Amino acid sequence: MTEPLAVVGAGAAGCGVAYALREADFDVTIFEKSRGVGGRAATRRRNGCYYDLGANYIKPADDRTETLLTSLGTDGLVDIDAPVWTHDASGQIRRGDREEAHKWSYETGLTQFAKRLLGEAAATVEKGVEIARLERTADGDWAGWQLFDTTDTAVGRFETVILTPPAPQTSGILRRSQWIDARRRQLVEAIDAVPYRTIRSVLLHYPFSIEVPYYALVNGDREHPVGWLSREECKPGHVPDGESLLVVQLSPAWSEEHYDLPTERAGRRVAQLVAVLLDDSRLADPDWVDTQGWRYALPDVRVDEETVRSAEDEGLFFAGDWVVGEGRVHAAFWNGVSVGERVAEGHK
Ligand SMILES: Cc1cc2nc3c(=O)[nH]c(=O)nc-3n(C[C@H](O)[C@H](O)[C@H](O)COP(=O)(O)OP(=O)(O)OC[C@H]3O[C@@H](n4cnc5c(N)ncnc54)[C@H](O)[C@@H]3O)c2cc1C
Repeated sequence: MTEPLAVVGAGAAGCGVAYALREADFDVTIFEKSRGVGGRAATRRRNGCYYDLGANYIKPADDRTETLLTSLGTDGLVDIDAPVWTHDASGQIRRGDREEAHKWSYETGLTQFAKRLLGEAAATVEKGVEIARLERTADGDWAGWQLFDTTDTAVGRFETVILTPPAPQTSGILRRSQWIDARRRQLVEAIDAVPYRTIRSVLLHYPFSIEVPYYALVNGDREHPVGWLSREECKPGHVPDGESLLVVQLSPAWSEEHYDLPTERAGRRVAQLVAVLLDDSRLADPDWVDTQGWRYALPDVRVDEETVRSAEDEGLFFAGDWVVGEGRVHAAFWNGVSVGERVAEGHK
């Protein structure tokens, strides 16, 4: 009989777990609190544009990621040719000096990565289900985990559970869980020690094209309120010809201070910053704006590995960018794969 296994979160790490288990003897259910998959590799569609609101692209550090992307299908897979330049605190723009690697997305947005992985994996995805807590349960010769949603309704019993939300959300689940074991507190402490940077993304659309020689600007000295600015029109399929859509990611300091500023006001402020930075007064007046706040955008360190693996003998695993200490889609994905492979190995 196939064993039921739960993954919490359908971001890159959760999809990595499901992908690794696609041929193993598990009945995999992924619980995802959002209505979509991909987590922080998120795409939105509006007024004929596709735009990546969180991660901008997958920049593989190794051949295996490129091989994987190819195996998932090259139809609609796009590489961003134009370079990334830099700007500093004073707004001085300079040509980037790093050698350009591939920067992959999809014509219909980066969320395709998760969709394609799940298309290969034999997993059931329960969207719109937020897991609030776990309960360690023993029943006759069965021992495992019962999962509860935010209405405290039990959504299933599983021998193996893999938690993949960002560290602060994973720690919240553990805090609320019923598991009388010293490891619960040790895990909460270790996971709470992973700080995250907050980033607010502001999208600015213009009914005209912006002629600059770069795809994006990154703030090298981390002293400018604009941490990152990129042009979605450099991704084939994202923006109709003759239009521009800027993705502006604000610095953690700006983002925290203006996290709750309403969209229109945040858009106006950021458009002013961008008009000055790019020395183009037309940019102060976008025809529409959108925003997305990422309270837990990027982990700054990696969780203590020994502690985070201490409950694996009870069937409790963790995966995600905070487990590897690298806020990258491919890093989270491969961490999910390695956890999935460990689970499968232990099951043999
Ligand atoms: C603004 C920004 C820009 C970035 N730019 C890049 C980039 O260009 N390239 C790059 O490689 N990386 C980039 N990153 C980092 C990258 O997006 C992340 O490192 C990666 O997507 C993390 O994947 P994950 O699966 O670990 O977590 P997530 O993607 O956060 O997935 C966790 C999932 O768990 C779900 N969840 C949370 N709590 C619960 C719950 N209680 N119950 C059920 N589901 C739950 C969430 O909804 C989410 O779908 C960026 C991130 C941000 C925010």
